[in-house]
Amino acid sequence: MMNIFCSMEDIVQHNCGIFGVIGNADAAKRTYLGLYALQHRGQESAGIVSTDGKNMYEYKGLGLVGDVFSDDKVLLKLLGDSAIGHNRYSTTGSTLFMNTQPFLIKFHAGQIAASHNGNIVNAQILRNEMEQNGSIFRTTTDSEVVLHLIAYSRRKTIPEMVSNAISKVKGAFSMLFLTSEYLIGVKDPNSFRPLVLGKKNNAWFLASESCAFDLLGVDFVRCLAPGELIILHRDNEPESFFPWGKRDKDKGSACIFEFIYFSRPDSYIFGESVEKVRREMGAQLAREHPADADIVIAVPDSSNTAALGFSQESGIPFELGLIRNHYIGRTFIQPTQHIREIGAKLKYSSVRGILKNKRVAIVDDSIVRGTTSKQLVQLIRDAGASEIHIRIASPPIVAPCYYGIDTPDKDQLIAANMSVEQIRDFIGADSLGYLSLDGLLSLKSLPKIGYCTACFGSPYPVKIDDKANKDKMGNG
Ligand code: AMP
Repeated sequence: MMNIFCSMEDIVQHNCGIFGVIGNADAAKRTYLGLYALQHRGQESAGIVSTDGKNMYEYKGLGLVGDVFSDDKVLLKLLGDSAIGHNRYSTTGSTLFMNTQPFLIKFHAGQIAASHNGNIVNAQILRNEMEQNGSIFRTTTDSEVVLHLIAYSRRKTIPEMVSNAISKVKGAFSMLFLTSEYLIGVKDPNSFRPLVLGKKNNAWFLASESCAFDLLGVDFVRCLAPGELIILHRDNEPESFFPWGKRDKDKGSACIFEFIYFSRPDSYIFGESVEKVRREMGAQLAREHPADADIVIAVPDSSNTAALGFSQESGIPFELGLIRNHYIGRTFIQPTQHIREIGAKLKYSSVRGILKNKRVAIVDDSIVRGTTSKQLVQLIRDAGASEIHIRIASPPIVAPCYYGIDTPDKDQLIAANMSVEQIRDFIGADSLGYLSLDGLLSLKSLPKIGYCTACFGSPYPVKIDDKANKDKMGNG
């Protein structure tokens, strides 16, 4: 979901967590737990809309799932056997209650709620057109545009209106829609963001990642196909449609960063276990950039799995040299550079007994601005390490994402502005090695589907139409 019509500083992309269920007596509670499991995908706000087949009920708030739903009574008021939920990714300057999802609207065909993960790249153009025709928008998000398109559609049934509406938007969107009758899931034809289908007894579930199903004992059924629109009913079997026509899997552009960083290692997305792929990234990194080191350490928690892979492939023992304070949010998404700098120091501390006089290989999943790596090198040197070798389990990030991952502008991406040697010097490491793009794409465990690797310098798979996005890209 992206925030539009605000100052340029506020225009950011973000990932989110979405969850839906139809046909379970405890729908709101299940959704609450599902959102809990997806908390890593968004910490800014949480919300649930439920239905008992007649009325719809909503509750949303700013903050973590546990904080928003801290009062049990709230869940009891979310009646019904079907619900959708949403966790919103923290972003710079867009922490507004009005933008919390799911959005619930009343229109000529009834009520509909929507949860969105991704970023619609022609939202501003569509919004301008609709505003000129008299539409009044209640939020500053791209997601609301889809609801307006649904209301504009002259098709007969709500699923047809949804299909008609989403065929007009471009970009990255895994979306859930809830009406009194249906739970509808949609994945854009490029398949940027994950969306998985599950089942338990007679209830059907949709979630960004399968880790939400594991918590609930829901059986994983399958990943949605690129461009699939699935209609889940209370009593009938699911129906699938392909509004853009059926797509070849390998022509998609699934976000490879979901495997690198974003999804939880215990999840199964895009046809494979994240843990398996991430571990192989670490192993491939060890083959491409061996390190003369006594120990391998991870930057917990995001690089634990890749660091294990590096250690197994290299034979260098894996140690817990850094401890993470789990009560601090993700440092990357703090609003200013100053706070971000303090944040990284607050977040990690070093274990002297492990690091002292050791040649240390640190494996991290990615370098964005370089702030974290620079501070970690200092921290580890202060703990007495004799050498520090940084290994990154992804290629250099040289371009911003317009499809839902929160990356800064090019001028703040360290690899867009410095060579690997300059970065090594800047962060103060003894050596630095990045996984190559070819190495990443050739991993055996990586499903053979097409990937978006635009952040590593490949072409953007969907043209960016919005002026705001183009400005950010620097080719306004
Ligand atoms: P930086 O200090 O800007 O180089 O941040 C790098 C760290 O941020 C990496 O170690 C990742 O674990 C984490 N990271 C990478 N991409 C993202 C993202 N889109 N959102 C939040 N954290 C991220």
